[in-house]
Amino acid sequence: MKIDDQTTYSSILCDIQSEIQPEFGKGKVANYIPALANVDPRKFGMAVCTIHGGEWLCGDATERFSIQSISKLFTLLLALQEVGADALWKRVGREPSGSAFNSLVLLEAEKGIPRNPFINAGALVVTDSLVEHFSDPIRHVLAWICELTGDNNIRVDDDVVRSEAACGFTNAAIANFLKAHGNLHAEVMPVLETYYQHCGLSMSCLDLARAVLPLANQGISIRTRNALMPSARARRINSLMLTCGLYEGVGNFAFRVGIPAKSGVGGGIVGVVPGKLTICVWSPELDEAGNSLVGTKALELFIGKTGLSIF
Ligand code: GLU
Repeated sequence: MKIDDQTTYSSILCDIQSEIQPEFGKGKVANYIPALANVDPRKFGMAVCTIHGGEWLCGDATERFSIQSISKLFTLLLALQEVGADALWKRVGREPSGSAFNSLVLLEAEKGIPRNPFINAGALVVTDSLVEHFSDPIRHVLAWICELTGDNNIRVDDDVVRSEAACGFTNAAIANFLKAHGNLHAEVMPVLETYYQHCGLSMSCLDLARAVLPLANQGISIRTRNALMPSARARRINSLMLTCGLYEGVGNFAFRVGIPAKSGVGGGIVGVVPGKLTICVWSPELDEAGNSLVGTKALELFIGKTGLSIF
């Protein structure tokens, strides 16, 4: 099969959209953030972007949704670029946590050093580094996303931000715990505010697949040809996604799908096939680990049909 052929991807995405239908109704839309509970559970979109500029879409691929934890990928890349890798990696690890995304358990045992930057504790440390570094951190996050996507219309959904802030007791506990261990340098409130803001970004499958294309292309933007990060960083971030990008479901995801990916409780999963393409799927019903249930199935089918697993 020649997988760079346009009709091939179109028909693959169409086939996946019909094959995943029996999976709807098996997961649950996130409701611990009240604004997310109102999203239609039948939404489904997929976007594929290749490093040669090809783009293929199906379903609700251009509808914007709450990217939640997928934003942790963008804040990490921004912090590595602006704050520096050495400083950041002293404060956060690079190992899978094996526990829930918002767990406090390991943090106590490991004295306030989060296992990785993709669990909430680690992401709060990354956000803290941005709050320390910039006077208006969310403006810089938006500018960075604009640089990655070429789209300056990507926005934060203030309703989602307010909704999460109103019941973000666990994140507040994590931030206070980090502060008590000296691993939060700024004040707790501005860090939480910025964290909720970046989690509240609204992007579509197409936006997200475009945004991560440099990770498939050795750090180089396919749009401007600029190096947006060193190639070694792109490689390492892909490794980190493979080992830590899907919370305690990461092993099962690697087994079933086998590509670096990052999920969010809004139901998005964005994946990277280095040297070839990026893919994003959105379906709001989640499995027990907080990853999109139908989205995981769709990616499993895509990899099965194209043979594009990295293994
Ligand atoms: N804003 C969410 C939280 O902090 C992100 C979680 C996720 O997407 O996994 O709980």
